[in-house]
Amino acid sequence: MASDHYDVIIIGTGAGGGTLAHRLAPSGKRILVLERGGYLPREPENWDSKEVFLKERYLSGEQWYDRNGEPFRPHQQYFVGGNTKFYGAILFRLRERDFEEVQHYGGVSPAWPISYGDLEPYYAQAEQLYLVHGLAGEDPTEPWRSADFPHPPVSHEPRIQQLHDDFEKTGHRPFHLPVGVDLNESDPEAGRCVRCDRFDGFPCLTDGKADAHVRCVRPALKHDNVTLVTHAKVERLETDASGHTISRVVVSRKGNEQVFSGDIVVVSCGAANSAALLLKSASDKHPNGLANSSDVVGRNYMAHINSGVIAISQTPNTTKFQKTLGVNDYYWGDEDSDLPLGHIQMLGKSDRNILRGGAPWFAPGRALDYMSKHAIDFWLTTEDLPHPDNRVTVDRQGNVHLAKMYLNNEPHRRLLAKLKGLMGPLGCHEMSIPSWSVLDQRIPLAGVAHQCGTVRFGADRATSALDVDCKAHDVDNLYVVDTSFFPSSSAVNPALTAMANALRVGDHLLARLDARAERFEPAPEPMEVVS
Ligand SMILES: Cc1cc2nc3c(=O)[nH]c(=O)nc-3n(C[C@H](O)[C@H](O)[C@H](O)COP(=O)(O)OP(=O)(O)OC[C@H]3O[C@@H](n4cnc5c(N)ncnc54)[C@H](O)[C@@H]3O)c2cc1C
Ligand code: SF4
Repeated sequence: MASDHYDVIIIGTGAGGGTLAHRLAPSGKRILVLERGGYLPREPENWDSKEVFLKERYLSGEQWYDRNGEPFRPHQQYFVGGNTKFYGAILFRLRERDFEEVQHYGGVSPAWPISYGDLEPYYAQAEQLYLVHGLAGEDPTEPWRSADFPHPPVSHEPRIQQLHDDFEKTGHRPFHLPVGVDLNESDPEAGRCVRCDRFDGFPCLTDGKADAHVRCVRPALKHDNVTLVTHAKVERLETDASGHTISRVVVSRKGNEQVFSGDIVVVSCGAANSAALLLKSASDKHPNGLANSSDVVGRNYMAHINSGVIAISQTPNTTKFQKTLGVNDYYWGDEDSDLPLGHIQMLGKSDRNILRGGAPWFAPGRALDYMSKHAIDFWLTTEDLPHPDNRVTVDRQGNVHLAKMYLNNEPHRRLLAKLKGLMGPLGCHEMSIPSWSVLDQRIPLAGVAHQCGTVRFGADRATSALDVDCKAHDVDNLYVVDTSFFPSSSAVNPALTAMANALRVGDHLLARLDARAERFEPAPEPMEVVS
């Protein structure tokens, strides 16, 4: 028998779940948020690259298995705020055409059941919520927007301004990246960000990064109708006898089993774990896994085709906050390509330890020092395409298996060649891409940062697990709001789309719950935390 009943249970506190909690909190409805991790400790090691990158201090430590049954350690972190505690907070809107069917070298990127126009108001709200800084009109592929960016662009430091100018000289249209950060350059006292070089892949010690914990979960908990239970890993969802309603949310917590129930249950565990949870919740009524009559749950896993590229600048690169510049001139192709190639953005600034993480054992320390002082770090993204055989499955012990092949390699190869060809004009060594570094290497299977697609939404219940409101076709009170609902991955970063969609689904849920507008006043007092 259920130990406690709520109006809504949200499982996971990342970009999807955290944002939804924020949207629903002022409704006055009883909301339970379940998070398998705890609060990320605030400690000096947050900004220590040796701890974060070499010792993998914050990784979950769990093992997943590849298509050959070989174990690997996924780059997963389980904390309040989910992967946004570590993200680079580059918060892009998908392009209008990303919502349509698009031909790529490796196949077809399918259309979404909603258009850009349907999501646009929610993109605008999500940009407000996550403090997005940017400059409208610069990015040549930028979709239309109903309002300007909420905050001015983060300025380029001198070496990146030079890079910007050099890109322009070579006929490109570089732009300021849209970035979610609590930074006020005209009044530094007014923001929490101290503009350091630890932005990408590190948690922020000052709470300056606009992550789901700081921007959404923490304020949601100020409402006394919202309860967060940390260290609560949801093991399975059970339905009533009809199979149409989830009646029990079964949690393992500190070695004990706890059971909760909710009128509505929202899964937002990240694309791999949400699929795994539904598959683990198979029953007589749902023999292929919960909400999986379509057999798509776990399939169509996408993660972007990504490469880190380190160019060696002829002059030292003293930039701290490097993630300010993007290039989308190749997004839809080029003179020699009618098909899309992808997107280029700056990475956070590398240092010796970060480079060491991608270098072989024989790389000399002095070379690493030289490289880190001269490195300009790029991140290249090409759209990953969905395929049913790219899938998450679970074995009898509940372990996650991830089978993945890459279908869209050709445009990524071309995009890399474009950037390498620009090294001289960009003031970098022509031979700047040594074969032994991360530079020319693709991000491997364990790099699951941009995971999406495993519980796709759609109008046709034969080919999708969720309807257009992200409600399971097969279950009346089950929703999914993390990146697993994506039918295609686009070539821009995914988090803002998960956040905007969570706000959209939140509005649907408020209507369904008949939540009254006068309840939307923020409650003054904190918070019930069970940790
Ligand atoms: C280093 C790094 C850099 C990135 N940079 C960017 C960027 O610049 N821009 C961008 O758009 N995206 C970026 N991303 C990706 C971005 O963080 C994700 O797209 C986003 O966080 C996905 O949100 P989500 O809600 O789907 O999942 P998550 O944020 O992963 O949240 C899932 C939550 O569910 C919890 N959970 C999982 N399983 C269970 C369970 N069984 N029971 C209870 N709780 C559970 C997890 O602990 C977690 O809190 C980056 C990611 C990483 C790792
Ligand atoms: S750059 Fe700003 S937001 Fe990023 S880690 Fe440093 S202080 Fe935090």
